[in-house]
Amino acid sequence: MRLKDKVAIITGAGRGIGEFTAKRFAQEGAKVVVADLNEADVNKVVEEIKADGGQALGVIVNVTDREQVDKMIADTLEHFGGLDILVNNAGITADNTLLKMTQEEWDRVINVNLTGVFHCGQAAAKVMAEKGSGVILNASSVVGLYGNFGQTNYAATKWGVIGMTKTWAKELGKKGIRVNAVAPGFIVTPMTAKMPEKVLDMMKEKSPLRTLGYPEDIANAYLYLASDEARFVTGTVLSVDGGVVL
Ligand code: NAP
Repeated sequence: MRLKDKVAIITGAGRGIGEFTAKRFAQEGAKVVVADLNEADVNKVVEEIKADGGQALGVIVNVTDREQVDKMIADTLEHFGGLDILVNNAGITADNTLLKMTQEEWDRVINVNLTGVFHCGQAAAKVMAEKGSGVILNASSVVGLYGNFGQTNYAATKWGVIGMTKTWAKELGKKGIRVNAVAPGFIVTPMTAKMPEKVLDMMKEKSPLRTLGYPEDIANAYLYLASDEARFVTGTVLSVDGGVVL
């Protein structure tokens, strides 16, 4: 088991990539905190992990709210007695072209994808620094590396997440904390279900592998980076995108 007895918080774990990551980590022996906005989704994922023989705690959290984030960390420590891994997965889109994007669309995406990552990263890092070990993994995107039509706000946040990842890797390495990002390509989840079919077909055609990705592909990347197999890996951005930008 690659994460035996490690305590891992995964934000946005109620569905999509976060759900699969929580389940994959639990299969590898982690004690998983399923953190998300949506109570019904959280309960479902927790029950499924437990039914599969894993250990899980559900926490309802809005990552934009620092008090709720601090409570998530406190609940984790109280229930599982520690914190080893944080996957900053919660993220949203609110697409529009630059000429049409509203202030509200800009603020909403910045709040979840950047400020939420800051809150969770800072709160977790304080606990990990005291212990002298830990792993923080951040959800970037192929869009954070190359930009994308209609995603000024999202691209800015996913680019920003890479900046935070590299900065935290520099600051926290001496405290025994590794920090990395994963940059998924187009993955079949409720988030991409909102995209036009023809855009998804185009992405498939652009990939040398001629396929879209699935949440399991990203969960496996997080698993590698969270495990001790990646003990010498920090400050990196692992692209898991089927080579779509080649
Ligand atoms: P998803 O299916 O939309 O799931 C995102 C989850 O995050 C949802 O359960 C959502 O809860 C939760 N969430 C949203 N805002 C939150 C908040 N303020 N606090 C706590 N939880 C919140 O997304 P996904 O496709 O799995 O993507 C997961 C991550 O990977 C995101 O950061 C995304 O940007 C990144 N990513 C995805 C792709 C892709 O192709 N899918 C590609 C590159 C990067 P609700 O259900 O209540 O809204």
